[in-house]
Amino acid sequence: MKVHFFGAAGEVTGSNSLIETGNKKIIVDCGMFQGGDFNEAKNHDPLPYNANEISAVLITHAHLDHVGRLPLLVKEGFTGFFYATPATMELAELVLKDALSVMEHDNIKFGRQVLYSEQDIAGVMQQFKPVDYYQWQDLFGDGSVKIYLRDAGHIFGSAFIEIDAEGKKIIFSGDVGNVHVPILRDTDNLPDDIDLLVCESTYGDKFHESDQTRREILEKAVLEAVKRGGVLMIPSFSLERTQELLYELDKLIEQEHRLPAMPIFLDSPLAIGATRVYRKYTQYYDESAVKLIKSGDDMFDFPGLVLSETRDDSKRINNTHNPKIIIAGAGMMNGGRILYHALRYLSDPQSTLLIIGYQAHGTLGRQIQEGATSVNVMGERVSVRCAVKTIGAFSAHGDQHKLLDWINSGKNLPKRICLNHGENNVRQFFAEKIKEKLGIDTTVVQKSLVIEI
Ligand SMILES: [Zn+2]
Repeated sequence: MKVHFFGAAGEVTGSNSLIETGNKKIIVDCGMFQGGDFNEAKNHDPLPYNANEISAVLITHAHLDHVGRLPLLVKEGFTGFFYATPATMELAELVLKDALSVMEHDNIKFGRQVLYSEQDIAGVMQQFKPVDYYQWQDLFGDGSVKIYLRDAGHIFGSAFIEIDAEGKKIIFSGDVGNVHVPILRDTDNLPDDIDLLVCESTYGDKFHESDQTRREILEKAVLEAVKRGGVLMIPSFSLERTQELLYELDKLIEQEHRLPAMPIFLDSPLAIGATRVYRKYTQYYDESAVKLIKSGDDMFDFPGLVLSETRDDSKRINNTHNPKIIIAGAGMMNGGRILYHALRYLSDPQSTLLIIGYQAHGTLGRQIQEGATSVNVMGERVSVRCAVKTIGAFSAHGDQHKLLDWINSGKNLPKRICLNHGENNVRQFFAEKIKEKLGIDTTVVQKSLVIEI
């Protein structure tokens, strides 16, 4: 059996791997490259395999960097099934449609090509085969390749995937969730006797603040922003981070009355749509979220929350007096409605920008996080005079402690590990940590690497 690595090798986006077993070729994730212009141009490169030779596609979760190029597979002749959990399936459709509308918008603006059409997205949905957690799926009906999905605790519907073929067991981590994340269940333990673990390493060099302090840090950041008298902008990933933020704000405002009432705008049609999917699949909730809904609380709604679905709704936010909070995508400020607010408020010393997620190299969010005093927003030069704060505890990814604990969560250790989905220096550092702490043979994968097991 061979594993090829095409994306998220030496970077955090563009996840795409291929398994060759017998005469079958199986893809795991086919995501978009995100970040600076150079990185995004890579989405237009031809796929490194013939889509019509692919037998099946497995999807770990609905983030754009894992699903963003799925319609290309359909466009180029893939006729098999896409396997994912039902929630991933619904979220992926929202994410792909949102990506298409962003591309169409950018296309007019920058004269770039749109990667795929509405019809290609419809093709993905028609070829989707929902697989629930904890059920073996025989991919080709002959027992040659079987898959099993466990909860990755990363975003709603996220899974890490076990692939059994040729008497070997491979695990693709997808992205591994943080500890004690509200709403989501914890990441499941690894099974035993793994021959190869393909593991993400986004935060292999970092330690997040504890979850107990997350709410306190958020409360403090909001109170400070209110005191400054301006706008609090929170660029937020539409899946998971936004729902966690709503959950925490619901606690702080409605249940514990620790924050004053003020307008809080959720300015993202994608996040609003995703929240509807969260409401639908209550069977994926963790115990405390189940308790909460049983008590009658709507954890995604509280006094002051305004859903800004249309562009006109979004424009109207400007007319509301301060203080106010604006939650808008994209999470790394590399597109989306947050840019319009950034244009208006980055230069305002009374305002605050609160970063709550990973910022990839080349993104506007990363530039500001690293202290840029002047940035380019949609072609305009803007000075950064607002306060800039970061909360790590909201990360959807596990930190070094969590990743090491997870790798060590089976009855025995994986025989071999390949690290993808991380910046090069981080992966190198984390590989050394794994060798030192657990003594496992660990490879930092490079683009086009092939591993034989
Ligand atoms: Zn992810």
